Amino acid sequence: MKIENIEIDIINIDLTKPYTIAYKTTSSIKTLVIKVILSNGNYGLGASNVSKYVVGLDTADSYNNSKKYLNHLLGRDLDSFWMIINDIENKFINDPGSKAAYNIAIYDAFCKYHDISIGKFLGRKIKSLPTSVTIGIKSTKETISEINEYLGLGFKHIKIKLGNNVEEDIRRINIINEKFGNKIKIRIDANQGWSLNDTIKFYSETKQIELIEQPLSAKDLTGYLKFPPKIKDIIALDESLVNFQDALKLSSDNYGRIFNIKLMKCGGITSGQHIANQAYQNNIDLMWGCNDESIISISAALNTALSFENTKYLDLDGSFDLKEDIVNGGFNLKNGALQPLDSPGLGVKPI
Ligand SMILES: [Mg+2]
Repeated sequence: MKIENIEIDIINIDLTKPYTIAYKTTSSIKTLVIKVILSNGNYGLGASNVSKYVVGLDTADSYNNSKKYLNHLLGRDLDSFWMIINDIENKFINDPGSKAAYNIAIYDAFCKYHDISIGKFLGRKIKSLPTSVTIGIKSTKETISEINEYLGLGFKHIKIKLGNNVEEDIRRINIINEKFGNKIKIRIDANQGWSLNDTIKFYSETKQIELIEQPLSAKDLTGYLKFPPKIKDIIALDESLVNFQDALKLSSDNYGRIFNIKLMKCGGITSGQHIANQAYQNNIDLMWGCNDESIISISAALNTALSFENTKYLDLDGSFDLKEDIVNGGFNLKNGALQPLDSPGLGVKPI
């Protein structure tokens, strides 16, 4: 089956809840969308929204790069699936945005053409998992009211962005813990905002923290080695773990026992699988995170996540706050847990 046409767009989407993390405030996003159309009229969709701060280029750069690549795929036979996937992997080593959007679109087209779900194609190991929902840097009062809102919607895993001031961070988390106790599980994302001593202080002066994401700078890898083992057990490496090279380095010693994989850092399903396998072989647990993204790429991440038995944490709330997504479907959300729809491809439908 031939690839007959490819459409590439960049789409602006407003967020329902603008948010602040340690280094920026976000109120709308740009998404790259790639549609790969086959000669029988079937098509696959891919999308991406990379963070320049994390990967060094933005969605507009990916848009330009993907446009230049388009002709390489036109007329190719989708039966040579792995050859096409490998070409994309090798072409976009330094552009995870183009790589992710093309990679996901080819997976979606291939699975639709063969009338199977991506979940079935990748091999499902886990049926469904709860996802955390993220609360940006806010006052304690606003944080409590947002937790109540999420509890009402069935979410129990709450990720709280911290990292501005550790004394204040400890105070806020202790108030929240006192108020909610076992009703919620708290994940922390300090987004590189703490020092080694801040992190140790936070760990010893708070309770019931499920994990701490990227407390120290991405560059301060030796700092991570200095944590005691019980803290390393709950450290999730995010900004330090962008691509497979990082996964090799970070699994060579005990920098932290959790890898936070994002398709928007590594560039799609295939690169995500490489990192996940590296973690699996080194007894490292997986957390799957995201940016603000369309259901297209969130579904791709969810299906990849559930195909690895070392996946322990989902943080795939990236499509919940989009004012208008370009597709629906992909997965069901029930009591805070995500379960893919097992319809062909990604199971998404354009709106
Ligand atoms: Mg993070």
